[in-house]
Amino acid sequence: MKKILCLLICLFAVCSCARGNGLYTETRVIMGTYVTITLNRSGKTEDELAKTAGDAFARITRVDDLMSTYKPMSNLSRINAASGIAPVPADPEVIENIEDASYVSRLTGGAFDVTVGPLVNAWEIGSKDAHIPSPGTIKRALSLVGRQNIVVDRKAGTVFLKKRGASIDLGAIAKGYASDRAVAALLEDGIKGGIVACAGDIKTFGTKPDGSPWTVGIQNPRGPEGAVVAKLPLTDTAISTSGDYERFFIKDGKRYCHIMDPHTGYPASGLMSVTVLAKDSWLADSMGTALFVLGPKKAYALALKHPELEVLMITDSGKVLATGRFRGMKIAPVTTGD
Ligand code: ADP
Ligand code: MG
Repeated sequence: MKKILCLLICLFAVCSCARGNGLYTETRVIMGTYVTITLNRSGKTEDELAKTAGDAFARITRVDDLMSTYKPMSNLSRINAASGIAPVPADPEVIENIEDASYVSRLTGGAFDVTVGPLVNAWEIGSKDAHIPSPGTIKRALSLVGRQNIVVDRKAGTVFLKKRGASIDLGAIAKGYASDRAVAALLEDGIKGGIVACAGDIKTFGTKPDGSPWTVGIQNPRGPEGAVVAKLPLTDTAISTSGDYERFFIKDGKRYCHIMDPHTGYPASGLMSVTVLAKDSWLADSMGTALFVLGPKKAYALALKHPELEVLMITDSGKVLATGRFRGMKIAPVTTGD
């Protein structure tokens, strides 16, 4: 899904987990990023824990095999390749993600839109070829963007992209979804608590062996990796951060990041980072991206209307906007300026 990158969120629980502290931890590279699973040992043997973690990693690999746009034979790549030509049989998990993405798109007035693929490809942000495309290129890419281009036929089990050249990119929702799937596997295997972290898309459940919650830190968007603006105790909650500090380039003093505004065809601006807490990781992941696109004013207004989300936003001038448990929390100051 994307190149190996540094973790958006520094996971203290993971840092501290050596054998003997009641935790089991394993990291693998899946979806082009680091995926770390940390488990409360829950009275299980090393072999049982390794097998259980393996089951959870397998769910994540399955999501990648279905939804990666880097794998030409993934279900999603085949749907994209057949754009404007024919509907393609789709796995129920792919359909579920596309429908969840549509829900977030409607909720955010189209700020979230998984048909941004052509725009993402035009800017190439995150690669060495990142550049500002010509106005004509942006216009052509924009003409292919819009969720109305996606036709899901649930009965037939197919997905069709109406316009030739249109494409779906689930990069802002699939890692969260994968964390949800992995946690489901761990619960089925009787694990009493743990954390699944697909890069910055993290889901916590249950507790540590001593009954205390997990602790997750939120990256300072202008600090060195691992510098945090806050730490918070979490259980049975997903957390996700979208920011402008990992995949970006600076041209003439202006920062261009990998999150696209589907209305303008340009990278979103106005925020350095958005952190969302939600029950489900797919929702935290997608809403983090969506609020980032909306920008401080609209995002804050929307967040206030949705108590099921708790949001911490840092604007590009370093101002903090907070809802839910983030309100009143001590947030370390962020120095601005590129
Ligand atoms: P990351 O994947 O870096 O953790 P996000 O969850 O915010 O960050 O997802 C960013 C990815 O989502 C981009 O790399 C791109 O593939 C895709 N994307 C960019 N803009 C949008 C958008 N407006 N709506 C939906 N997906 C987007
Ligand atoms: Mg996201």
